[in-house]
Amino acid sequence: MPTFFIKTYGCQMNERDSEQVAHSLIERGYQPVSDEANADVVLLNTCSVRDMADQKALGKMGMLGRIASQRPEVVFGFLGCMAQARGETLLDQLPHVDLVVGTQKFHRVADYVDELVARKATRRMDDLRFSICDIAEEAGSQETIREQQLAPRQVTAFVSIMQGCNMRCTFCIVPRTRGAERSRTIREIEREVRDLVSRGVKEVTLLGQIVNLYGRHEFPITGGKSPFVQLLEAVHAVDGLERLRFTSPHPMGFRDDLIRAFSELPKLAEHVHLPLQSGSDRILRGMHRTYTSDKYRALVAKLRSARPAIALTTDVIVGFPGEQQSDYQQTRDLVEEIGFDNAFVFRYSPRAETPAAQMGEHVDEETKQARNRDLLHVVDASARRCNERLVGTNVEILCEGPSRTNPARLMGRTRTNKIVVFEPGVGGSGEMMNVRVTRATGFSLYAEPLDPVLSAA
Ligand code: SF4
Repeated sequence: MPTFFIKTYGCQMNERDSEQVAHSLIERGYQPVSDEANADVVLLNTCSVRDMADQKALGKMGMLGRIASQRPEVVFGFLGCMAQARGETLLDQLPHVDLVVGTQKFHRVADYVDELVARKATRRMDDLRFSICDIAEEAGSQETIREQQLAPRQVTAFVSIMQGCNMRCTFCIVPRTRGAERSRTIREIEREVRDLVSRGVKEVTLLGQIVNLYGRHEFPITGGKSPFVQLLEAVHAVDGLERLRFTSPHPMGFRDDLIRAFSELPKLAEHVHLPLQSGSDRILRGMHRTYTSDKYRALVAKLRSARPAIALTTDVIVGFPGEQQSDYQQTRDLVEEIGFDNAFVFRYSPRAETPAAQMGEHVDEETKQARNRDLLHVVDASARRCNERLVGTNVEILCEGPSRTNPARLMGRTRTNKIVVFEPGVGGSGEMMNVRVTRATGFSLYAEPLDPVLSAA
């Protein structure tokens, strides 16, 4: 039985795409392995959002060339965003690569792998040089990410609800790598969630590049509710589902119906990842983000009033072209004022063929690094404060299994998406539990278990 190994870079969408590919390979009789050295098929599912992610995947594939020289029968492939952006050039750059598959063709990977494995098994030299590159667009490809290979006792799952993005933020390569917005139907998504819940899943996270604008081009507003809110309501009604999350939204997609959903849908967890990107209106305009710092502030206030305990996390870019110290200071002030539960801070890196890459006034690396370090201090202090407030309180968690850093302990997540680590005792993997928080760092909470929670569904 041939074996395969998939390494995934980047976001949760990529994780979900890799699960889909793994599922399709397992269905064909391939066996997953946890180490590339033992694999007959090695696939890197790539990310192009930052230059570093590109370089990591290229470096990794370069190193895999060693295996290729010893075992020429092994199939090597690039999947996903970088494959989409670079296409056939990857085959020229790294001659041991056999397969390049773009973001609309994950459902074809198993066919291509079958073909390559069969050709390589013949060991003819002309076949050893055979390669496949498929980065074409495909109508309906958003409906192909829908089967999941669940691990034993897996209780959380991602559900891809749409592909692509039409927003054209000037720093972002996603519209190029993922194409135009295309949404699955509510009925199909609901079917997938029902299936997951029947197999033991208790929490789903709906995924899309611009998730809260789901369906805006395909489906009507009904009863004053956007297609996304209609979808939330449909998924919320699935019996046995305990928690519902979504990521990543755009601030402009939070209209009143979505804010109201946070008051009306109890399974909707108290966490929103709300990308800010900058606190300077001038830079937000340059980024083409379509909101101002005041609108963002007002949105935070509305969310906090709909759900007072809501946790907010964000993304911020420092060093966007033209960012002056005064712009950065506005970002720093806003991040401090809002008091995020956590934030990802990125140094701007130009991506080929994006409008921002063509802009003048690029900020030098040293300044970007200094702003990055400074903002991380602000974020770390804020994350620690948010977590320390929970010490001494009881919180509900969904236990996901052994802690990654210490498998003798268990870990779970709060409704606010904070990691909680605790000693095994009452309750265990897959259960909703109450725990008392005894200690906090900026990254995690430590707790003692109290009792399992009766199902809310
Ligand atoms: S909303 Fe902007 S940042 Fe997000 S994927 Fe679309 S273009 Fe990129």
